[in-house]
Amino acid sequence: MIGPPSGLTTQNLSPEFFDLPRIRRDFPALSQMVNGRPLVYLDNAATTQKSTAVIEALSRYYSEDNANVHRGVHALSERATAAYEGSREKTREFLNANESREIIFVRGATEGINLVAQVMGQRLQPGDEIIISTMEHHSNIVPWQMLRDTRGVVLRVIPINDDGELLLDEYNKLFNERTRLVSLVHLSNVIGTINPIREVIVRAHARGVPVLIDGAQAVSHVKVDVQALDCDFYVFSSHKLFGPTGVGVLYGKESLLESLPPYQGGGEMISSVSFDRTVYNALPYKFEAGTPNIAGVIGLGTAIDYVTKLGLEKIAAHKDSLMNYATETVGAVEGVRIIGTAEAKASVLSFVMDDVHPHDVGTILDQDGIAVRTGHHCGQPLMERFGLAATVRASFAFYNTREEVDRLVSALHRVREVFV
Ligand code: PMP
Repeated sequence: MIGPPSGLTTQNLSPEFFDLPRIRRDFPALSQMVNGRPLVYLDNAATTQKSTAVIEALSRYYSEDNANVHRGVHALSERATAAYEGSREKTREFLNANESREIIFVRGATEGINLVAQVMGQRLQPGDEIIISTMEHHSNIVPWQMLRDTRGVVLRVIPINDDGELLLDEYNKLFNERTRLVSLVHLSNVIGTINPIREVIVRAHARGVPVLIDGAQAVSHVKVDVQALDCDFYVFSSHKLFGPTGVGVLYGKESLLESLPPYQGGGEMISSVSFDRTVYNALPYKFEAGTPNIAGVIGLGTAIDYVTKLGLEKIAAHKDSLMNYATETVGAVEGVRIIGTAEAKASVLSFVMDDVHPHDVGTILDQDGIAVRTGHHCGQPLMERFGLAATVRASFAFYNTREEVDRLVSALHRVREVFV
Protein backbone atom coordinates (compact mmCIF):
# COMPACT_ATOMS: atom_id res chain seq x y z
CA MET A 1 0.00 0.00 0.00
CA ILE A 2 1.44 3.37 -0.96
CA GLY A 3 0.41 5.91 1.64
CA PRO A 4 1.41 9.32 2.91
CA PRO A 5 5.10 10.31 2.97
CA SER A 6 7.02 9.06 5.96
CA GLY A 7 6.96 12.42 7.74
CA LEU A 8 10.73 12.53 8.18
CA THR A 9 12.06 15.82 9.40
CA THR A 10 14.82 17.50 7.47
CA GLN A 11 17.06 18.16 10.47
CA ASN A 12 17.53 14.40 10.86
CA LEU A 13 18.48 13.77 7.28
CA SER A 14 22.24 14.43 7.16
CA PRO A 15 21.93 17.38 4.75
CA GLU A 16 25.72 17.66 4.82
CA PHE A 17 25.88 14.54 2.65
CA PHE A 18 22.97 14.68 0.31
CA ASP A 19 19.40 15.67 -0.06
CA LEU A 20 17.77 12.70 1.67
CA PRO A 21 14.14 13.84 1.34
CA ARG A 22 14.63 14.16 -2.41
CA ILE A 23 16.46 10.81 -2.62
CA ARG A 24 13.69 9.12 -0.68
CA ARG A 25 11.10 10.47 -3.07
CA ASP A 26 12.95 8.63 -5.85
CA PHE A 27 12.06 5.30 -4.17
CA PRO A 28 8.27 4.99 -4.17
CA ALA A 29 8.12 1.94 -1.91
CA LEU A 30 9.68 3.93 0.94
CA SER A 31 6.74 6.30 1.33
CA GLN A 32 4.15 3.78 2.40
CA MET A 33 2.46 2.98 5.66
CA VAL A 34 2.88 -0.46 7.17
CA ASN A 35 0.64 -1.44 10.06
CA GLY A 36 -0.41 2.17 10.40
CA ARG A 37 3.14 3.53 10.68
CA PRO A 38 5.48 4.97 8.06
CA LEU A 39 7.63 2.15 6.74
CA VAL A 40 11.19 1.92 8.07
CA TYR A 41 12.94 -0.35 5.62
CA LEU A 42 16.03 -1.86 7.22
CA ASP A 43 16.28 -5.08 5.22
CA ASN A 44 18.58 -3.81 2.52
CA ALA A 45 21.00 -6.71 2.82
CA ALA A 46 18.16 -8.98 1.67
CA THR A 47 17.19 -6.68 -1.17
CA THR A 48 17.16 -2.97 -1.85
CA GLN A 49 14.27 -0.77 -3.00
CA LYS A 50 14.01 0.39 -6.60
CA SER A 51 14.01 3.96 -7.85
CA THR A 52 11.34 5.30 -10.18
CA ALA A 53 14.09 5.55 -12.81
CA VAL A 54 14.70 1.77 -12.61
CA ILE A 55 10.97 0.97 -12.62
CA GLU A 56 10.52 3.24 -15.65
CA ALA A 57 13.47 1.68 -17.47
CA LEU A 58 11.78 -1.74 -17.17
CA SER A 59 8.48 -0.31 -18.30
CA ARG A 60 10.08 1.56 -21.23
CA TYR A 61 11.82 -1.56 -22.46
CA TYR A 62 8.61 -3.60 -22.39
CA SER A 63 6.40 -0.85 -23.79
CA GLU A 64 8.72 0.50 -26.50
CA ASP A 65 11.80 -1.62 -27.21
CA ASN A 66 10.68 -5.17 -26.46
CA ALA A 67 12.62 -7.47 -28.80
CA ASN A 68 15.27 -10.13 -28.51
CA VAL A 69 18.89 -9.00 -28.43
CA HIS A 70 21.71 -9.67 -30.88
CA ARG A 71 19.38 -11.36 -33.36
CA GLY A 72 17.15 -9.07 -35.35
CA VAL A 73 18.00 -6.51 -37.96
CA HIS A 74 14.88 -4.55 -37.10
CA ALA A 75 14.73 -1.31 -35.17
CA LEU A 76 13.36 -2.70 -31.90
CA SER A 77 15.99 -5.39 -31.72
CA GLU A 78 18.70 -2.86 -32.40
CA ARG A 79 17.40 -0.58 -29.66
CA ALA A 80 17.11 -3.49 -27.21
CA THR A 81 20.62 -4.68 -28.08
CA ALA A 82 22.07 -1.19 -27.71
CA ALA A 83 20.45 -0.79 -24.29
CA TYR A 84 21.53 -4.28 -23.18
CA GLU A 85 25.11 -3.82 -24.32
CA GLY A 86 25.06 -0.28 -22.95
CA SER A 87 24.42 -1.78 -19.52
CA ARG A 88 27.38 -4.08 -19.99
CA GLU A 89 29.58 -1.07 -20.66
CA LYS A 90 28.16 0.74 -17.60
CA THR A 91 28.91 -2.36 -15.52
CA ARG A 92 32.44 -2.52 -16.91
CA GLU A 93 32.99 1.08 -15.93
CA PHE A 94 31.36 0.54 -12.52
CA LEU A 95 33.82 -2.26 -11.69
CA ASN A 96 36.64 -0.66 -13.69
CA ALA A 97 37.08 -3.87 -15.65
CA ASN A 98 39.48 -3.66 -18.54
CA GLU A 99 37.12 -5.02 -21.19
CA SER A 100 33.34 -5.26 -21.44
CA ARG A 101 33.74 -8.88 -22.58
CA GLU A 102 34.89 -9.63 -19.04
CA ILE A 103 31.35 -8.83 -17.82
CA ILE A 104 29.03 -11.85 -17.90
CA PHE A 105 25.36 -11.35 -17.08
CA VAL A 106 23.95 -14.09 -14.88
CA ARG A 107 20.91 -14.46 -12.61
CA GLY A 108 22.64 -13.20 -9.48
CA ALA A 109 25.65 -13.64 -7.23
CA THR A 110 24.51 -17.20 -6.61
CA GLU A 111 24.60 -18.11 -10.28
CA GLY A 112 27.92 -16.30 -10.74
CA ILE A 113 29.55 -18.49 -8.09
CA ASN A 114 27.87 -21.64 -9.39
CA LEU A 115 29.05 -20.82 -12.90
CA VAL A 116 32.67 -20.60 -11.75
CA ALA A 117 32.31 -23.73 -9.60
CA GLN A 118 30.83 -25.72 -12.46
CA VAL A 119 33.21 -24.66 -15.19
CA MET A 120 36.32 -24.80 -13.02
CA GLY A 121 35.02 -27.97 -11.45
CA GLN A 122 35.22 -29.80 -14.77
CA ARG A 123 39.00 -29.46 -14.55
CA LEU A 124 39.42 -30.27 -10.85
CA GLN A 125 40.81 -33.58 -9.65
CA PRO A 126 40.04 -35.46 -6.44
CA GLY A 127 42.15 -33.93 -3.69
CA ASP A 128 42.25 -30.44 -5.26
CA GLU A 129 41.45 -27.79 -2.68
CA ILE A 130 39.30 -24.66 -2.43
CA ILE A 131 39.66 -22.11 0.37
CA ILE A 132 36.59 -20.28 1.67
CA SER A 133 35.91 -18.65 5.06
CA THR A 134 33.68 -19.14 8.08
CA MET A 135 31.65 -16.07 7.14
CA GLU A 136 30.48 -17.15 3.70
CA HIS A 137 26.90 -16.96 2.52
CA HIS A 138 25.52 -20.42 1.71
CA SER A 139 25.89 -19.54 -1.96
CA ASN A 140 29.65 -19.51 -1.48
CA ILE A 141 29.68 -22.79 0.45
CA VAL A 142 27.23 -25.17 -1.18
CA PRO A 143 28.53 -24.95 -4.79
CA TRP A 144 31.97 -26.00 -3.50
CA GLN A 145 30.45 -28.76 -1.36
CA MET A 146 28.73 -30.02 -4.48
CA LEU A 147 32.18 -30.29 -6.07
CA ARG A 148 33.36 -32.08 -2.98
CA ASP A 149 30.59 -34.62 -3.45
CA THR A 150 30.95 -35.04 -7.20
CA ARG A 151 34.68 -34.59 -7.73
CA GLY A 152 36.32 -35.20 -4.38
CA VAL A 153 37.39 -31.58 -3.98
CA VAL A 154 38.55 -30.63 -0.47
CA LEU A 155 37.20 -27.51 1.26
CA ARG A 156 39.44 -25.49 3.59
CA VAL A 157 37.89 -22.82 5.79
CA ILE A 158 39.59 -19.64 7.05
CA PRO A 159 38.62 -19.24 10.72
CA ILE A 160 37.60 -15.92 12.30
CA ASN A 161 38.09 -14.29 15.70
CA ASP A 162 35.31 -13.34 18.13
CA ASP A 163 34.97 -9.92 16.49
CA GLY A 164 34.20 -11.60 13.17
CA GLU A 165 37.53 -10.89 11.46
CA LEU A 166 39.50 -13.32 9.33
CA LEU A 167 42.53 -14.92 10.96
CA LEU A 168 45.03 -14.16 8.23
CA ASP A 169 47.84 -16.19 9.80
CA GLU A 170 45.58 -19.22 9.67
CA TYR A 171 44.72 -18.37 6.06
CA ASN A 172 48.42 -18.63 5.15
CA LYS A 173 48.53 -22.13 6.58
CA LEU A 174 45.66 -23.40 4.43
CA PHE A 175 47.61 -23.26 1.17
CA ASN A 176 49.38 -26.23 -0.31
CA GLU A 177 50.25 -27.43 -3.79
CA ARG A 178 46.67 -28.67 -4.30
CA THR A 179 45.02 -25.27 -3.66
CA ARG A 180 43.11 -24.26 -6.80
CA LEU A 181 40.98 -21.28 -5.75
CA VAL A 182 40.22 -18.90 -2.89
CA SER A 183 36.57 -17.80 -2.78
CA LEU A 184 35.77 -15.12 -0.26
CA VAL A 185 33.04 -12.67 0.67
CA HIS A 186 33.93 -8.98 0.44
CA LEU A 187 31.38 -7.65 2.97
CA SER A 188 29.57 -10.09 5.25
CA ASN A 189 25.79 -10.07 4.94
CA VAL A 190 25.50 -11.35 8.52
CA ILE A 191 27.95 -9.27 10.56
CA GLY A 192 29.05 -6.51 8.19
CA THR A 193 32.77 -7.31 8.31
CA ILE A 194 34.68 -5.81 5.39
CA ASN A 195 37.40 -8.29 4.57
CA PRO A 196 40.92 -7.20 3.61
CA ILE A 197 40.46 -8.68 0.18
CA ARG A 198 43.45 -6.97 -1.40
CA GLU A 199 45.71 -8.67 1.16
CA VAL A 200 43.90 -11.99 0.66
CA ILE A 201 44.40 -11.72 -3.10
CA VAL A 202 48.09 -10.79 -2.86
CA ARG A 203 48.78 -13.80 -0.65
CA ALA A 204 46.88 -16.15 -2.96
CA HIS A 205 48.57 -14.82 -6.08
CA ALA A 206 51.99 -15.22 -4.44
CA ARG A 207 51.15 -18.93 -4.53
CA GLY A 208 49.68 -18.83 -8.03
CA VAL A 209 46.10 -19.31 -6.81
CA PRO A 210 43.20 -17.32 -8.36
CA VAL A 211 40.62 -15.57 -6.19
CA LEU A 212 36.86 -15.13 -6.51
CA ILE A 213 35.27 -12.32 -4.51
CA ASP A 214 31.60 -12.39 -3.55
CA GLY A 215 30.68 -8.73 -3.70
CA ALA A 216 26.92 -9.14 -3.21
CA GLN A 217 26.88 -6.75 -0.24
CA ALA A 218 29.96 -4.71 -1.07
CA VAL A 219 29.07 -3.07 -4.38
CA SER A 220 26.48 -0.81 -2.76
CA HIS A 221 29.00 0.43 -0.23
CA VAL A 222 32.55 0.57 -1.59
CA LYS A 223 33.97 1.54 -4.93
CA VAL A 224 35.13 -1.73 -6.45
CA ASP A 225 38.05 -1.58 -8.86
CA VAL A 226 38.67 -5.10 -10.10
CA GLN A 227 41.93 -4.09 -11.76
CA ALA A 228 43.34 -2.46 -8.63
CA LEU A 229 42.17 -5.44 -6.55
CA ASP A 230 43.55 -7.78 -9.19
CA CYS A 231 40.82 -10.31 -8.33
CA ASP A 232 40.22 -13.05 -10.86
CA PHE A 233 36.45 -13.20 -10.46
CA TYR A 234 34.00 -10.81 -8.81
CA VAL A 235 30.27 -11.46 -8.49
CA PHE A 236 27.30 -9.37 -7.41
CA SER A 237 23.50 -9.22 -7.68
CA SER A 238 21.62 -6.33 -9.26
CA HIS A 239 18.81 -6.43 -6.71
CA LYS A 240 21.16 -5.56 -3.86
CA LEU A 241 22.33 -2.54 -5.87
CA PHE A 242 18.86 -0.99 -6.29
CA GLY A 243 18.34 -2.82 -9.59
CA PRO A 244 15.86 -5.54 -10.59
CA THR A 245 15.88 -9.11 -9.30
CA GLY A 246 16.94 -11.98 -11.54
CA VAL A 247 20.12 -10.33 -12.81
CA GLY A 248 23.68 -10.47 -11.60
CA VAL A 249 27.18 -9.99 -12.80
CA LEU A 250 30.19 -12.23 -13.00
CA TYR A 251 33.37 -10.36 -13.76
CA GLY A 252 36.24 -12.61 -14.82
CA LYS A 253 39.71 -11.85 -16.12
CA GLU A 254 39.65 -12.30 -19.85
CA SER A 255 42.48 -14.83 -19.96
CA LEU A 256 40.80 -16.99 -17.33
CA LEU A 257 37.39 -16.84 -18.96
CA GLU A 258 38.97 -17.70 -22.29
CA SER A 259 40.64 -20.74 -20.79
CA LEU A 260 37.48 -22.12 -19.17
CA PRO A 261 34.87 -24.29 -20.87
CA PRO A 262 31.36 -22.88 -21.38
CA TYR A 263 28.72 -23.07 -18.67
CA GLN A 264 25.37 -23.85 -20.31
CA GLY A 265 24.83 -24.83 -23.93
CA GLY A 266 22.27 -23.26 -26.24
CA GLY A 267 21.66 -20.27 -28.44
CA GLU A 268 23.88 -17.19 -28.23
CA MET A 269 26.85 -19.07 -26.78
CA ILE A 270 27.82 -20.58 -30.13
CA SER A 271 29.25 -19.18 -33.33
CA SER A 272 28.33 -22.26 -35.37
CA VAL A 273 26.62 -25.59 -34.76
CA SER A 274 26.60 -28.78 -36.78
CA PHE A 275 25.91 -32.29 -35.57
CA ASP A 276 29.63 -33.02 -35.81
CA ARG A 277 31.07 -29.93 -34.30
CA THR A 278 30.04 -26.80 -32.43
CA VAL A 279 32.24 -23.72 -32.22
CA TYR A 280 31.65 -21.58 -29.16
CA ASN A 281 31.06 -17.89 -29.33
CA ALA A 282 33.56 -15.26 -28.19
CA LEU A 283 33.39 -13.69 -24.74
CA PRO A 284 31.14 -12.70 -23.09
CA TYR A 285 28.52 -14.62 -25.09
CA LYS A 286 30.24 -17.96 -24.54
CA PHE A 287 28.87 -17.80 -20.99
CA GLU A 288 25.43 -16.34 -21.80
CA ALA A 289 23.37 -19.17 -23.29
CA GLY A 290 19.78 -18.43 -24.21
CA THR A 291 17.73 -15.26 -24.13
CA PRO A 292 18.95 -13.22 -21.18
CA ASN A 293 16.99 -11.11 -18.72
CA ILE A 294 17.07 -8.15 -21.09
CA ALA A 295 14.81 -5.82 -19.10
CA GLY A 296 16.63 -6.70 -15.89
CA VAL A 297 20.03 -5.96 -17.38
CA ILE A 298 18.77 -2.61 -18.69
CA GLY A 299 17.34 -1.86 -15.23
CA LEU A 300 20.69 -2.71 -13.67
CA GLY A 301 22.33 -0.15 -15.95
CA THR A 302 19.90 2.49 -14.69
CA ALA A 303 20.57 1.51 -11.08
CA ILE A 304 24.32 1.83 -11.67
CA ASP A 305 23.73 5.30 -13.12
CA TYR A 306 21.83 6.27 -9.98
CA VAL A 307 24.44 5.04 -7.52
CA THR A 308 27.28 6.49 -9.57
CA LYS A 309 25.60 9.89 -9.73
CA LEU A 310 25.06 9.88 -5.97
CA GLY A 311 28.70 8.86 -5.47
CA LEU A 312 29.86 5.80 -3.60
CA GLU A 313 32.10 7.85 -1.34
CA LYS A 314 29.17 9.94 -0.15
CA ILE A 315 27.03 6.83 0.17
CA ALA A 316 29.67 5.14 2.32
CA ALA A 317 30.12 8.25 4.49
CA HIS A 318 26.39 8.53 5.12
CA LYS A 319 25.99 4.82 5.83
CA ASP A 320 29.04 4.76 8.11
CA SER A 321 27.62 7.61 10.12
CA LEU A 322 24.28 5.77 10.35
CA MET A 323 26.03 2.56 11.39
CA ASN A 324 27.96 4.36 14.14
CA TYR A 325 24.78 5.93 15.40
CA ALA A 326 22.88 2.62 15.23
CA THR A 327 25.69 0.68 16.90
CA GLU A 328 25.73 3.17 19.75
CA THR A 329 21.98 3.51 20.24
CA VAL A 330 20.88 -0.07 19.55
CA GLY A 331 23.84 -1.34 21.58
CA ALA A 332 22.67 0.81 24.51
CA VAL A 333 19.26 -0.89 24.68
CA GLU A 334 19.21 -3.10 27.75
CA GLY A 335 19.79 -6.76 26.96
CA VAL A 336 21.03 -6.18 23.39
CA ARG A 337 24.26 -7.82 22.29
CA ILE A 338 25.75 -6.87 18.94
CA ILE A 339 27.16 -9.77 16.94
CA GLY A 340 30.20 -8.92 14.85
CA THR A 341 32.43 -6.13 16.09
CA ALA A 342 35.08 -6.03 13.40
CA GLU A 343 37.08 -2.85 13.09
CA ALA A 344 36.29 -2.67 9.39
CA LYS A 345 32.53 -3.03 9.30
CA ALA A 346 29.64 -1.53 7.35
CA SER A 347 25.98 -1.62 6.43
CA VAL A 348 24.86 -4.54 8.58
CA LEU A 349 23.99 -4.56 12.30
CA SER A 350 23.22 -7.99 13.70
CA PHE A 351 22.16 -8.39 17.28
CA VAL A 352 20.40 -10.60 19.78
CA MET A 353 18.31 -9.64 22.78
CA ASP A 354 18.46 -11.47 26.11
CA ASP A 355 15.47 -13.69 26.69
CA VAL A 356 13.69 -12.75 23.45
CA HIS A 357 13.76 -14.89 20.33
CA PRO A 358 14.89 -12.91 17.25
CA HIS A 359 11.70 -13.93 15.47
CA ASP A 360 9.64 -12.30 18.22
CA VAL A 361 11.75 -9.15 17.97
CA GLY A 362 11.13 -9.07 14.21
CA THR A 363 7.39 -9.55 14.68
CA ILE A 364 7.07 -6.67 17.14
CA LEU A 365 9.19 -4.43 14.92
CA ASP A 366 6.93 -5.28 11.99
CA GLN A 367 3.92 -4.17 14.03
CA ASP A 368 5.70 -0.82 14.22
CA GLY A 369 6.24 -0.75 10.44
CA ILE A 370 9.94 -1.61 10.78
CA ALA A 371 11.31 -4.20 8.36
CA VAL A 372 14.33 -6.16 9.58
CA ARG A 373 15.48 -9.68 8.90
CA THR A 374 15.60 -12.41 11.51
CA GLY A 375 17.10 -15.86 11.19
CA HIS A 376 20.44 -17.27 10.12
CA HIS A 377 20.74 -15.02 7.04
CA CYS A 378 22.01 -17.92 4.89
CA GLY A 379 25.12 -18.07 7.04
CA GLN A 380 24.55 -21.05 9.30
CA PRO A 381 28.23 -21.96 9.78
CA LEU A 382 28.87 -18.38 10.91
CA MET A 383 25.93 -18.54 13.30
CA GLU A 384 27.37 -21.75 14.69
CA ARG A 385 30.73 -20.01 15.20
CA PHE A 386 28.95 -17.50 17.43
CA GLY A 387 26.89 -20.22 19.14
CA LEU A 388 23.62 -18.81 17.86
CA ALA A 389 20.71 -20.08 15.79
CA ALA A 390 19.52 -16.65 14.68
CA THR A 391 20.01 -12.91 15.01
CA VAL A 392 18.02 -9.79 14.25
CA ARG A 393 19.62 -7.94 11.36
CA ALA A 394 19.12 -4.28 10.51
CA SER A 395 20.85 -3.38 7.26
CA PHE A 396 21.17 0.12 5.88
CA ALA A 397 21.08 1.80 2.50
CA PHE A 398 21.83 5.40 1.51
CA TYR A 399 18.14 6.32 1.81
CA ASN A 400 17.95 5.42 5.51
CA THR A 401 17.95 8.14 8.15
CA ARG A 402 18.89 8.70 11.77
CA GLU A 403 15.23 9.13 12.55
CA GLU A 404 14.64 5.61 11.30
CA VAL A 405 17.35 4.35 13.65
CA ASP A 406 15.54 6.19 16.46
CA ARG A 407 12.33 4.41 15.48
CA LEU A 408 14.17 1.08 15.65
CA VAL A 409 15.55 1.87 19.08
CA SER A 410 12.17 2.91 20.51
CA ALA A 411 10.61 -0.24 19.10
CA LEU A 412 13.33 -2.34 20.75
CA HIS A 413 12.45 -0.73 24.07
CA ARG A 414 8.85 -1.75 23.41
CA VAL A 415 10.02 -5.33 22.74
CA ARG A 416 11.58 -5.40 26.18
CA GLU A 417 8.39 -4.09 27.76
CA VAL A 418 6.40 -6.85 26.08
CA PHE A 419 8.75 -9.76 26.71
CA VAL A 420 10.94 -9.07 29.70
N1 PMP B 1 26.56 -13.49 -1.10
C1 PMP B 1 26.18 -12.64 -0.16
C2 PMP B 1 27.20 -12.05 0.76
C3 PMP B 1 24.84 -12.30 -0.03
O1 PMP B 1 24.45 -11.44 0.91
C4 PMP B 1 23.90 -12.89 -0.91
C5 PMP B 1 22.42 -12.58 -0.79
N2 PMP B 1 21.95 -12.49 0.51
C6 PMP B 1 24.37 -13.75 -1.90
C7 PMP B 1 25.70 -14.03 -1.96
C8 PMP B 1 23.44 -14.38 -2.87
O2 PMP B 1 22.84 -13.41 -3.65
P1 PMP B 1 21.59 -13.77 -4.59
O3 PMP B 1 20.60 -14.47 -3.72
O4 PMP B 1 21.11 -12.44 -5.05
O5 PMP B 1 22.12 -14.63 -5.68
